[in-house]
Amino acid sequence: MTATIAALAVMLSSGFAPPAATQSSVAQPPVRHHWINYNAKRRSEMAAYSMRHYGRHSYHLVPRVIVEHWTQTRTAAPVFAMFAADTPDSELHELPGVCSHYLIDTTGTIYQLVPLTVMCRHTVGLNDHAIGIEHVGMSDRGVMTNHRQITASIRLTRWLRCRYRIALQDIIGHSESVSSRFHHERIARLRNQTHSDMQPATMRSYRSVVARQACPLP
Ligand SMILES: [Zn+2]
Repeated sequence: MTATIAALAVMLSSGFAPPAATQSSVAQPPVRHHWINYNAKRRSEMAAYSMRHYGRHSYHLVPRVIVEHWTQTRTAAPVFAMFAADTPDSELHELPGVCSHYLIDTTGTIYQLVPLTVMCRHTVGLNDHAIGIEHVGMSDRGVMTNHRQITASIRLTRWLRCRYRIALQDIIGHSESVSSRFHHERIARLRNQTHSDMQPATMRSYRSVVARQACPLP
């Protein structure tokens, strides 16, 4: 158990009271742009996907939720390649290809792959409302115990949460997607489809840290 997780565990088990909310501004962390090609073909495919799954023919994102993921890779390179390739995914065999808005490397470097104005396919049932954050890694524990990576992740999520006025309960792990209040899916066989990354126990710790910095009043 590393210092980061140990500290979280002690804080939670002892009824640790987070610092009082302040009006401090929440700064955007450093972000490197690594844009994937979100061209007219991909925009058209995304709008068609949104129509099939959500009943709204649009590729424009309406941010209400942040979904945290990990990549099941040890490096960022294969993730950039997979997200850039606008080819049918291996699981649901649909277009456009999968992507997420951000990718956080094990070094703590945050990459942005697409603008926050457009949808990416990363979470069934939530792609019309969810900003996707991927972490290079192989497990919840691996992400949560990498100090540089989890620090960058918390900073990014705090900034997004405040910028878009996203409620704490709407910062979720992929494994929590089906129980999100914004989850909806027109295709019956996909209504319970989810993945196991970022479990509820992990996200309870994650959210408790995010909550320690309040958003300034609008
Ligand atoms: Zn995921």
